[in-house]
Amino acid sequence: MGYTRARRYANYKGGKKYDETKDYAQLERGTGETEKAAAATVFYDYWKHAEANGLYAALKKQWKHERVKKQDLPQKVCMNCGRPFTWRKKWEKAWDEVKYCSDKCKKK
Ligand SMILES: [Zn+2]
Repeated sequence: MGYTRARRYANYKGGKKYDETKDYAQLERGTGETEKAAAATVFYDYWKHAEANGLYAALKKQWKHERVKKQDLPQKVCMNCGRPFTWRKKWEKAWDEVKYCSDKCKKK
């Protein structure tokens, strides 16, 4: 977990922002745990500390430049839920056979 994830848990109970049983409607904000907000602060401080490091900043810039952008990855539409999903490393060898966005959709 990092800053963003910790903040999600601080804002939403169980870290869940959307209700999968109600067509992914956004859940009520402000239902999370205050302890997670404290954790987020710790992550944030270390994140800023790391960004102040010249080597880290240079390596991050290089990584951002070299990585494949998510929008450039191939997409498919899930045969179960009908939502689009993006190529993942774990599907590298079997992308042509992938039909579902998740194990959950595959089981249904
Ligand atoms: Zn699906």
